[in-house]
Amino acid sequence: MLVNIGMRLRRAAREKDLVARFGGDEFAILARELPGSEDATNIALRVIKEIDQPITTGRLQHHLGVGIGIALFPQDGPSDVEILRRADIALYRAKDEKPQSASRFFDAEMDARTQERDRIERDLRGAISNGDVRPHYQPLIDLATKQVVGFEALARWEHPTLGWIAPDRFIPVAESCGLMNELTEHLLRLAARDASQWPDKLTLAFNVSPSQLKERTLGLRILTILAEAGLSPRRLEIELTESAIVHDLEGAQEALTALRGAGVRIALDDFGTGYSSLYHLRNFKIDKIKIDRSFVDSMEHEPDAYALVRALLGFGRGLGLTVTAEGVEKPAQAVALHQEGCQQGQGYLYGHAMSAKDAVNFIRLNAMEAAPASAHVA
Ligand code: C2E
Ligand code: CA
Ligand code: CA
Repeated sequence: MLVNIGMRLRRAAREKDLVARFGGDEFAILARELPGSEDATNIALRVIKEIDQPITTGRLQHHLGVGIGIALFPQDGPSDVEILRRADIALYRAKDEKPQSASRFFDAEMDARTQERDRIERDLRGAISNGDVRPHYQPLIDLATKQVVGFEALARWEHPTLGWIAPDRFIPVAESCGLMNELTEHLLRLAARDASQWPDKLTLAFNVSPSQLKERTLGLRILTILAEAGLSPRRLEIELTESAIVHDLEGAQEALTALRGAGVRIALDDFGTGYSSLYHLRNFKIDKIKIDRSFVDSMEHEPDAYALVRALLGFGRGLGLTVTAEGVEKPAQAVALHQEGCQQGQGYLYGHAMSAKDAVNFIRLNAMEAAPASAHVA
């Protein structure tokens, strides 16, 4: 395979270029005397074309892809070492395009992003063990009674120098450096402990990422953590995205069997944004759908979005599911959603994700507000 790739690279490169293998599956092309950056692009395109042709060994056909990072001398760096380092950063970006082949030029912003990512990767393990990463809680509200019915745990990282880091920035890093199990167990342990202090009727919603659904022991590990914290599985709701389920329907079913058996509920997160294969989902037992906030956001101004929300609510009703609308920011949205039959709302209108301590206060205040008026007089 390597010899074959080497020959293809020779074909894609020009006569005066140097083609080398660095080790493993990494090759480099030193392209001398390029008139302009388009000429680098042209070489990259020829490489992609060559590599994208299947390779036949015996009776098997192999389909390979290639990621290409490009750095230019002298504008991208003063030395060969620096040029290689930057080409490597660009390569890293190109590989994000998987499974497609792709090429990327180095740029300075890329360098900054990569350095930040490296920093996050270096600090994450320590941050998990010393408790800098912890769940915050965003309330879910019953639209009819305005009562809080539970909280969704959302991961927050308080970094000593970078400040608050959003989950969108560190969860992908945890995924790529193999820390996701550790992170999830840590978060669930804290969240289950906090939720066990809330009134019994309040649920804890917890996000599980697609990669974790592939693990056979997922259910068992979750149930063990709940037992240790003294939280009944009936109070836990697992949030999954459609894409997580549709990718590997049987695997997901299997991973969830133990949880479902113990009474854990399953919610479909960001509903409407994935490649909603309702057909695929028909055999998949879910308890709740969460309508993505993009629909809620545009329903006021776009009749189409409004119609879609109605359709999603009808779908939920037809299947006997609970429906939560995400991203409720204005009272008018809450009113419209309630009128259309949506049971629960979540969003800045009711509260941002808050610390465990603030969540307890929130519960107390919410109970007072929902109590009959006479209680206030007395
Ligand atoms: P998500 O599960 O869809 O979570 C809801 C996101 O919407 C949260 O962002 C929340 O702060 C934000 N949000 C809530 N209400 C409003 C609103 O009214 N308006 C607007 N504009 N936004 C609102 P956050 O906390 O940054 O989380 C981003 C995503 O990161 C989450 O999306 C979830 O997919 C993921 N995530 C967060 N915590 C965890 C975790 O512990 N494990 C895993 N696997 N994923 C997590
Ligand atoms: Ca969620
Ligand atoms: Ca969501």
